[in-house]
Amino acid sequence: VRIDSVDFFYLAMPVVTDEGDGSQDALLVRVTSGGHFGWGECEASPLVSIAAFVTPMSHGACRPVSAAVLGKDVSTPEDIALIAAEIGWNSMDLLQAPHTWSGVEMALWDLLGRARGEPVWRMLGYQRAEPKTPYASALFGDEPQVTLQRGLAARQAGFRAAKFGWGPIGRGTVADDANQFFAAREGLGPDGILLIDAGQIWGQDIEAAAARLPALEQVAAVWLEEPFGGEAVGAYRALSARSPVVRLAGGEASHNEAMAYRLMDDGGIGFVQIDCGRVGGIGPAYKIAQHAEASGITYVNHTFTSHLALSASIQPFAGLVKHEICEYPFAPKPLARDLTTTRMVPDASGHITAPDAPGLGLEISGETVERYLVDAEIKVGGKTIYSSPKF
Ligand SMILES: [Mg+2]
Repeated sequence: VRIDSVDFFYLAMPVVTDEGDGSQDALLVRVTSGGHFGWGECEASPLVSIAAFVTPMSHGACRPVSAAVLGKDVSTPEDIALIAAEIGWNSMDLLQAPHTWSGVEMALWDLLGRARGEPVWRMLGYQRAEPKTPYASALFGDEPQVTLQRGLAARQAGFRAAKFGWGPIGRGTVADDANQFFAAREGLGPDGILLIDAGQIWGQDIEAAAARLPALEQVAAVWLEEPFGGEAVGAYRALSARSPVVRLAGGEASHNEAMAYRLMDDGGIGFVQIDCGRVGGIGPAYKIAQHAEASGITYVNHTFTSHLALSASIQPFAGLVKHEICEYPFAPKPLARDLTTTRMVPDASGHITAPDAPGLGLEISGETVERYLVDAEIKVGGKTIYSSPKF
């Protein structure tokens, strides 16, 4: 079946702030093909990602993503990989291409799964979807007291694990950060699995990050996430050698498989975190998960947006028993929270499992799409090459 159309829905909250909350806007993708449809979500600047799909060609190696997608025949997962390879060559100089393709790729898996009546994880070769332990993913408060309250809220909501990230970490003194870590531990309680995310704040500064290790050990943090930029592999390697107890986590910044492999093979990380909406979709994420399994590294999804993105992010490691912990957006903005009519809610034992339903297993709320849809238009030479579609 040929790909008939790819529609991009740019959604945004009425007010978007500079807090590190990726659920403030969204780029939803709908693909239709021969009477079937599928949904995906890109995790990057929506308008820039749309532009990468519709932009006029600059030259042979800088074509729009659409050039490799529209009209293509997609009947198997291998067909999806073929399109990915074509984009890799076609659009090698178009840096936003992997972000744009990620949402389209996800939608194609959803479409194939719906057409075959199979969940994506089964199409990937898994026999069953294993239960995952969701961690409540939250931001540090500006004050430790706020962080403590958020930890308490996560615990009261039944989460055994929680992650605190971004906010003031790394912007003040070592003692300031320690106070935040202690507050997080106090809120979450002594038995909770505590995870800390520095949000790349130290760039490549190994000493600045190392200065925080004693406090992180004291609060028994399981991992320190993204102390450095996504490509600072040497800094990761140096810090991981000095931190045998608190393992490093990273990988959400990977825009392709190669970046993730470098962090895993040369960065000394203990946890690799992959966002299917950035890395090129579900196919590459699955390969990274297999590499993690073979390398003794724990694979974790990165998801800070909707449950559609959450389902997509869990598919690549749905069947891997030892890779149990998973990121769970705890307090996303309403547009992300309400994007799907069905959600992945923890069961009585506190676990979540990838839906046992065709495709990604979730339905989109047309009401939410219409409420947050941004009216946008891209015009080139008097011709409209993009305008917000109808749901
Ligand atoms: Mg992070």
